[in-house]
Amino acid sequence: MSRALPAPSAEPAGCSRRQFLAFGWIPFLRPSHIHLAGARFRILRSGRSSRRYLFIHGNEETARAVLTRFMQTQEGIAYLIEGHARNVSIDSGQIDPNRMFSRAGAEASLKNLNPAWSPQQREAALRALDRGREHLVRALLPPRRGVLVALHNNSEEYSVTEEVPISDATSLREPANPHAFFLCTDPADFAVLSQSPYNVVLQHDKPSVDDGSLSHLAARRGVRYVNLEVRLGQADRQLEMLRWANWNLP
Ligand SMILES: [Zn+2]
Repeated sequence: MSRALPAPSAEPAGCSRRQFLAFGWIPFLRPSHIHLAGARFRILRSGRSSRRYLFIHGNEETARAVLTRFMQTQEGIAYLIEGHARNVSIDSGQIDPNRMFSRAGAEASLKNLNPAWSPQQREAALRALDRGREHLVRALLPPRRGVLVALHNNSEEYSVTEEVPISDATSLREPANPHAFFLCTDPADFAVLSQSPYNVVLQHDKPSVDDGSLSHLAARRGVRYVNLEVRLGQADRQLEMLRWANWNLP
């Protein structure tokens, strides 16, 4: 079950600007966590920036450390998943938290990770996700013209090579290091990021198969989204790329 928490936001819904100015800064009025099923995110806030940051796979410890360190000096709101496993609990089973953002994606992940579940068990879990999904999505997505940057780590099995065939544009300035790359959904962001010395792909067109990832949801909704991938362990490189993007993106 996923019970609604008060909506966390830099400018809380249902709250007038005057109220916000008067009370918005009081930290205890704003939730410190948000969750969907077993995916529980700690919320770090700093300043009034429209930047949003996300760490969603608990086993990608390099990305967690980089984002935690970055937020000590930069403005924005960061969501960091708790726990240290890639998948999170849901009822008696598990789901990949980056496959929860559509029913189709969640269903595929539940089938894959819980092969012994009955269709009824799956349906109950999907209904709970349907009830809570939009609450989490509203919190994670940036305000208008803001950007959401998600940090991930990869290993041998995944690199920009897998994304190139399904991308709308690519700029591979570092072909010898395919594990480090940006994936973005906005052509203007691609234009900026492709001036960097790093690999970049653009996935702007709505994906034909919705895998339930946040990048697909962002593409569907026209939201500026940037995935920052580096190989697990390459903290200096991930921080460097994060700083480059933060400095150069509008
Ligand atoms: Zn990941």
